[in-house]
Amino acid sequence: MSLRLRLTGWFRRARALILRREVEIIGQCALCGDCCHDILIQDGRSWLKSRRAFERLCEREPEYRRFAVTGRSESGLLVFACTLQGGDGLCTSYDSRLPLCRNYPTRSLYYLGGWLKPDCGYSFKATTFRSLLMRRKRAAIPKFSEVLRRETERKQD
Ligand code: SF4
Ligand code: SF4
Repeated sequence: MSLRLRLTGWFRRARALILRREVEIIGQCALCGDCCHDILIQDGRSWLKSRRAFERLCEREPEYRRFAVTGRSESGLLVFACTLQGGDGLCTSYDSRLPLCRNYPTRSLYYLGGWLKPDCGYSFKATTFRSLLMRRKRAAIPKFSEVLRRETERKQD
């Protein structure tokens, strides 16, 4: 994994821990099919870097044979496309898709420093230091109606 991804992931995990706010996944699938190609695959905690490692995974879990190597990422990880994606971009084996597909996108992708595809209908919504600060500032400012009520009561006393 590249240094940039590692640092981004580390920052996101640290921020979530400090603010005690998990990232939220919002939106819905727009059926663009982009997540069925340019895929990185993990075996346990390791990302696949070699064809031999991929072959070992396929021997253990033959359903992974649906993926075909299409190249390498900048950081040297194997990049895959799924052979079960139809010409219209949709899954031709929807009911037997893998947990990898069913669970996409996962929070772990976010905490590993990853991003969603540009056309994905989902997005990550994280609480940032700035947004929390703004929320606290807003909460500290009394509502106009509350000030008016207090003033009216004071004058009546
Ligand atoms: S099995 Fe279906 S959902 Fe999963 S990557 Fe392949 S085409 Fe996409
Ligand atoms: S990239 Fe996002 S919107 Fe497109 S098919 Fe995958 S989950 Fe759905």
